[in-house]
Amino acid sequence: MMSRSLLRLVLAGAVATGGALLAAVPADASNAPKTVPVRLLALNDFHGNLEPPTGNSGRMVDEHGNTVDAGGAAYIAAHMKALTDKNTIAVAQGDLIGASPLISAAYHDEPSVEFLGKLGLKVAAVGNHEFDEGYAELRRIMKGGCHPVDGCSPAGQWTGAKYDYVGANVLFKNGDAKSDALEGLGHAGQITKLMKDWGVPALPPVSIQWMNGVPIGFIGLVTQTTPNIVSSDGIKDLKFVDEVKAANMASKLLKLVGVKAQVVLVHEGDQVTAGQSPDACSAVPGAGNRIATQVDPEIDVVLSGHSHQAYLCKVKDPAGHDRLYSQGGSFGRVITQVDLKVDVKSRDIDRASVVADNHVVTRTIEPDGDINDFVKLWKDNVSSVADKPVGKITEEITNKAVPSGESPLGNLIADGQLAATKAGGNAQIALMNPGGVRAPLSYKGEGVVTYGDAFTVQPFNNLLQVVTLTGAQLKTVLEQQFTGGPNNQAFTKILQPSANLTYTYSNSAAWGSKVSDIRIDGQPVTDAQQIRVAVNNFLVGGGDAFAAFKDGKDLWSGPLDIDAFVDQLGKDNPIAPPATNRIKVVD
Ligand SMILES: [Zn+2]
Repeated sequence: MMSRSLLRLVLAGAVATGGALLAAVPADASNAPKTVPVRLLALNDFHGNLEPPTGNSGRMVDEHGNTVDAGGAAYIAAHMKALTDKNTIAVAQGDLIGASPLISAAYHDEPSVEFLGKLGLKVAAVGNHEFDEGYAELRRIMKGGCHPVDGCSPAGQWTGAKYDYVGANVLFKNGDAKSDALEGLGHAGQITKLMKDWGVPALPPVSIQWMNGVPIGFIGLVTQTTPNIVSSDGIKDLKFVDEVKAANMASKLLKLVGVKAQVVLVHEGDQVTAGQSPDACSAVPGAGNRIATQVDPEIDVVLSGHSHQAYLCKVKDPAGHDRLYSQGGSFGRVITQVDLKVDVKSRDIDRASVVADNHVVTRTIEPDGDINDFVKLWKDNVSSVADKPVGKITEEITNKAVPSGESPLGNLIADGQLAATKAGGNAQIALMNPGGVRAPLSYKGEGVVTYGDAFTVQPFNNLLQVVTLTGAQLKTVLEQQFTGGPNNQAFTKILQPSANLTYTYSNSAAWGSKVSDIRIDGQPVTDAQQIRVAVNNFLVGGGDAFAAFKDGKDLWSGPLDIDAFVDQLGKDNPIAPPATNRIKVVD
């Protein structure tokens, strides 16, 4: 039976008969069904959360407006089992790995990819975080083999992902040199050879899954902003082209081989009104909506990710037909169920049959026993590292920014980065990107901070580096914090400064001249002055659109960011949250 419209989204207002049932066959027709049912179960932005995520990351607003505990691999598996029928294909929209907790990250996310294979996942779009450790490492995750530096995990030889990773808009900059790169990636790799006028894909663009005698084509897409948000070194041979253009090429290709039931899995999405039901559509039209509305009318469904929001929207495709556009939150807290019917003759999806429902992965059901054991095994593996105390804090140190854009935790990390790079790299100041401070340091057990806690805050294994900037270049960097221009506060990213760097910015001043009175150790900075600046390799590569860092000279590479942070946590006993008085804001 259909539940209330709030709980389910019915496209085109069709009177659905229940997603899993075959359409009724008229008495005078042959016995063969005219349509066959297909159920998609989708996950996005899992980020290696094998254990139930904690704090805000482990809570979700449900369909009734209640905030409930959600997520955890054993609960995902239990919910998936309950929702899976014989017509089901499990899919995902990227960021399944990367920026993950230590239990997964310590083994280069092999445990998470193995879990997703056990879950029955068939196809996943790559997300930007799939490139965190570089393209070569992503290929190893896809194909198998032990890590070139760290060797095999405690589970032995890595055998590769049991699902297809797809990314239609990920191409080689120089195609000819790498044209054999897709060898060994299965049927999806062979299809790519057809697409000569496209450039050379660095990943399979599509994956075709058969269900009930009909083929379903899945097109993978990742945000074209990926080069701005991952370290440049690991993706230096790649380009990330327009998502809509790539989707339309992939759609044509699928049609060429007779696949008309087409689903986009896109790692890009929109924001919603806080606290909304996961089944509502208050998505603020942005990058995700552009893709969902503009891709070829042959594409029937757009499942999205990246913005960590849950929504079910009905948008118009370019031909004016309704199309589902959805996302399922993040960290494994939501499973998106899409029921649809495919016409056996035309092999196309009947749009009017599409019904979607976001299910919150509650923890009030019995967790899956096998997956519970699997997670426990990895928890035991990593516990000797994770449970080691590395310092003490007097109270919670939050990563929540004050109005200047500084956060106590960001400032603490910047201080640690300066301390760790002073001797080797002659660093004079440090700057930390706020998006890399992934979680607060919560106060628990008399303030003890473990390595696992620290890792949750700094999970990227970025290298600390030092470059020389002139005073003028430093000012440019600080001006680039306001990337959205004068009228767009939403994209402002305030770098977390070490304690000895102070400056003022003006909210009302023109874009490009907001920053003034830059001082290091109290001394005004001159344009010509040479300054050794410690930042992570993500920023050195121009990450978060801080292009001016790329002008830095005399690069020195130092320790990992997590090691610098752990050293800093061990310095005072206990550590109090640093003041947030390094940046002065004027109107
Ligand atoms: Zn993402």
